[in-house]
Amino acid sequence: MKSQARVVIVGGGIMGVGLLYHLVEEGWSDVVLVEKGELTSGSTWHAAGQCPHFNGSLNLTKMHVYGTELYPRLEALTGVAVSWHGCGGVRLAFSDDEVDWFKYVHGLSRLAGYEAAIVGPNEIKTHHPLVETHDVKAAFVTFTDGHVAPADVTNAMAAGARRGGATIYRRCRATDIRRLPSGEWEVVTERGNIRCEHVVNAAGSYADVVGGWTGHAVPIANLLHHYVITEPLQELIDLDKELPVLRDPSSHCYIREETNGVLVGPYETAGAHLCFDGGPPSWDFESELVPPELERLMPWLEKAGERLPLFNRAGVKSVISGAITHTPDSNFLLGPAHGAPGYWMANGASIGICQGAGAGKYLAQWMVHGQAEINMREFDPRRFGPWAAGDYAKVTAIEDYHHMYYCYRPGEQHAAGRPVRKSSLFDRLGAAGAQYQQVMGWERPRWYDKSGEGERYSFRRSNWFEAVREECLAVRNAVGLMDLSSFAKFELKGNAAHAALSRLTANRIPSRDGGIVLAHMLTEAGFIESELTITRLAPDHYFLLSAATAELQDEDLLQRGLTADGGPTLANVTEAYGTLILAGPKSREVLASLTEVDLANASFPWLTGRIITVAGVEDVRALRINYVGELGYELHCPMASMAGVFDALMREGARHGITLFGTYAMNSLRMEKAYRAWGAELTNEVTMIEGAMERFVDLAKDFVGKAGTLKSKEDGPRIQLVYLEVAATDSDCRGNEPVYHDGRLVGITTGGAYGHAVGKSLAFAYVEPALATSTGELAVELYGERHAARIIPEPAYDPDNARLKG
Ligand SMILES: Cc1cc2nc3c(=O)[nH]c(=O)nc-3n(C[C@H](O)[C@H](O)[C@H](O)COP(=O)(O)OP(=O)(O)OC[C@H]3O[C@@H](n4cnc5c(N)ncnc54)[C@H](O)[C@@H]3O)c2cc1C
Repeated sequence: MKSQARVVIVGGGIMGVGLLYHLVEEGWSDVVLVEKGELTSGSTWHAAGQCPHFNGSLNLTKMHVYGTELYPRLEALTGVAVSWHGCGGVRLAFSDDEVDWFKYVHGLSRLAGYEAAIVGPNEIKTHHPLVETHDVKAAFVTFTDGHVAPADVTNAMAAGARRGGATIYRRCRATDIRRLPSGEWEVVTERGNIRCEHVVNAAGSYADVVGGWTGHAVPIANLLHHYVITEPLQELIDLDKELPVLRDPSSHCYIREETNGVLVGPYETAGAHLCFDGGPPSWDFESELVPPELERLMPWLEKAGERLPLFNRAGVKSVISGAITHTPDSNFLLGPAHGAPGYWMANGASIGICQGAGAGKYLAQWMVHGQAEINMREFDPRRFGPWAAGDYAKVTAIEDYHHMYYCYRPGEQHAAGRPVRKSSLFDRLGAAGAQYQQVMGWERPRWYDKSGEGERYSFRRSNWFEAVREECLAVRNAVGLMDLSSFAKFELKGNAAHAALSRLTANRIPSRDGGIVLAHMLTEAGFIESELTITRLAPDHYFLLSAATAELQDEDLLQRGLTADGGPTLANVTEAYGTLILAGPKSREVLASLTEVDLANASFPWLTGRIITVAGVEDVRALRINYVGELGYELHCPMASMAGVFDALMREGARHGITLFGTYAMNSLRMEKAYRAWGAELTNEVTMIEGAMERFVDLAKDFVGKAGTLKSKEDGPRIQLVYLEVAATDSDCRGNEPVYHDGRLVGITTGGAYGHAVGKSLAFAYVEPALATSTGELAVELYGERHAARIIPEPAYDPDNARLKG
């Protein structure tokens, strides 16, 4: 048994083995996997093996596409038989919303490169002759979907990995993981200890227990899932080709052929429950089924029989019932564990057979090269903090399971387990009609509904549209107030703070007290990791703000860039301070009535900040910046006393028409100013040059990612960000829509909104560089229709920043 390796993976299901294979592919061969039983003996062996493409996320789709391209080739690559069935897939739609969703996903299919078509009810039977279609509006047909025997692909990848030098220890349970003083990890197993640079928790249903050894709560829960297989049917034997896999939201079932019988797997929409009493299985649980609960499934199975009448005519031959891991948001946990350099998560998969190869490929890239070629934010385990552990993980996992075939419309989210993180204004804003959205656990108002109806969710503009117009115009013409307490907030203190920030970010760090700068942390290769607003409060004291969802990632990035001894100290003060955004031409007057500080331009200019007292509340960090393009202030107040500041601002603002606004309005206002958003326009897929952000780069100094930035500048951008006016009608860009030029796919949108002050539908897109300066027409596809799009060279609103500086 080895005592040292570069990587040790705990868990030999498809997630662990998929990673092992791809680490070898990426060039690391000193890699070890330990499995307590046999490979696949957890959830993997009994999966139904379906590999669909349809889903609403571009990055996840890229993983699906990779898997369905790899699996048919695996036998040739590894010499191990893999029974790939490329039978295609058909997903049914019953509502206009689902049809809109299909149209959006059809755009994604072109961007991700898989073949799909949306067909009407009359054409469905040409793809699936046996399905009942009287109530169906449309179907999404995918030609390269399929299914595969899960053990086959896992064993094939294991063989490929071994051939490339990887070592697999079966019947070797890990019993502990420890961090050594050297920074290495030690995996304690039944057969000996292995020291390693990287350790990976791929323990499937046991991931939370394994995470617990190092204090990492893993927000997953094990749900009981079944599928049944019937006796063979003559009608299926007589078919000249295999039926595509059917996904039927009316019965909430997947339905396909299996050895000439019918296989039906229901995702119950009510009453689903946790396996193993909510905990992990016992350590000796191996290649076993969980006792089935067929009676409970009858309502869904009956509906499946209505959809495929053939199913009713056959006797059930076998029932498979086992544990499947779910996370609060359906995505697996793939990436670094918070606060533990070299510890990685690869667990929480509920469609792991389909996703295991792609997850392994992109995680291996991240581990070996420091970043993956796709944006991994939505999979990063650090999107969940301690707030997501325990009961929250359980109730949201159950809701996630109930909603496997649910069509979430833009703005719509799980309701279970909320609220978990809220500002001290939660009840006040709720009473004012706040329509809350959960972001990084925080409840954040999207918009304010004065009618009491709540949001009518839709892929098109809906009842929020006019309300958001009022919010935007109030900010543009008078004054608006927003609670943005979800901002991640840090304090960096110490003599070396300036030098550390200068090394870690691309921009020049302020050298005067009160100076504010927007600065980006880059990967070694020069791609954008993070965006920080940095304020110097004192020579040895900096206040740092970043996106809510980046809180734990940025804490790690900053922490790792600091020297242990004598270096500056970092504190995460996210929950200690609440944030109010006061913006609009009247904002100065409103704030002036509540503070002694002189707010005149000469003494408190744009891009400066200071600690002031507002309405008797001390230690308010007032920054003269905002993301909406007006005269305005970010007021970071001690959370416990923020309500006092809020009440005073509302009282004093009343005579100026102060209006509460939410993130929908903020998005619209930032689009009018052409402000890029981290996570949308600015991701690890682009450099500062490609994101047209060079003015935020100080090439005169050394910083992490400088060489990559220079290279991108010398080579010229591969893609270029453009700002567009779109001739949209009843919907606006939301990101990941295809962009065309002369009928050819040339780019992708990253975000957009209707600009109410300018009366234009606006979007950002990355396009081929040759088209970035083109005056020719582009076209953006929105829900199946192409709309003319024109590049606009400067912000649609106040291009000279006169309002900000006013
Ligand atoms: C009934 C059913 C049908 C399904 N159908 C599909 C489908 O059609 N398509 C699809 O994509 N997905 C499907 N799934 C989901 C799929 O099975 C899972 O997403 C996938 O198997 C998860 O893989 P994993 O590697 O994360 O976990 P697992 O396969 O459970 O692997 C984890 C491994 O870690 C090992 N382990 C744990 N702790 C230790 C330790 N301390 N030391 C050493 N080893 C350890 C375990 O023994 C186990 O082998 C289905 C699941 C079920 C239950």
